[in-house]
Amino acid sequence: MRIILLGPPGAGKGTHAGTISALKSVPHVASGDLFRKHQQEETELGILAGSFMSKGELVPDEVTIRMIEQRLGEDDCWQGIILDGFPRTVTQATALDQLFASLDHKLDLVLYLAVSEDELVRRLGGRITCRNCQTPYNLVSSPPKIENVCNQCNGELYQRPDDTADAVRQRIQVFTQQTIPLVDYYTSKGILTEIDGEQDISEVQRALIAAV
Ligand code: ADP
Ligand code: ADP
Ligand code: ZN
Repeated sequence: MRIILLGPPGAGKGTHAGTISALKSVPHVASGDLFRKHQQEETELGILAGSFMSKGELVPDEVTIRMIEQRLGEDDCWQGIILDGFPRTVTQATALDQLFASLDHKLDLVLYLAVSEDELVRRLGGRITCRNCQTPYNLVSSPPKIENVCNQCNGELYQRPDDTADAVRQRIQVFTQQTIPLVDYYTSKGILTEIDGEQDISEVQRALIAAV
């Protein structure tokens, strides 16, 4: 099964990707997580990506597509995948279609998590993320069991530098301009399901499970 999790920053993609990944036994591939791993390792790609991420802008398509193509070429992605944060532009979506076509793979489902801007700003203001496994938490809606410690891996929790008020506003604007067109793109292919992402975490999870 090949699934895309589509939604604005703060919609809940990272929160729910793990559940779907476990349910369908397919790997969770998150473009933002891959970029942050490159940043931590101070690779050339990481340094380049960081200069865009810190401003809340998208990393150029060409670089992003190359990174995802490489990841999708690994053995564990052969049977299926859950993509989180990619594609984010029509150019990326077209490249993904071409890649899947060349491999004789089919994209089954696009899950679109819809959340209002006010709620996104509220959520991202309280988001803390594991430095090690990148699981997201929230100071208000889903705090970790032990303060500043990841429930999954005991890693340290931190506030992402792009979760500051200015960068968040910029990222939401970028989503509206560059990523919203993908809703029509996948609707016209008949594979998009919209989920009300504004509900409680448990209700969103139930709706996502029902959809897959
Ligand atoms: P969020 O959790 O807010 O949706 P991500 O972790 O997915 O954010 O992405 C963080 C940043 O990484 C983005 O603001 C952007 O700079 C970069 N990025 C992630 N995915 C992509 C992509 N598909 N295309 C371009 N840039 C991306
Ligand atoms: P994305 O990966 O789409 O950027 P996250 O999964 O990281 O979003 O969630 C953004 C923030 O909102 C996190 O702090 C997360 O704990 C919190 N959150 C996620 N879903 C909900 C929800 N349904 N209600 C309240 N807070 C949520
Ligand atoms: Zn962790």
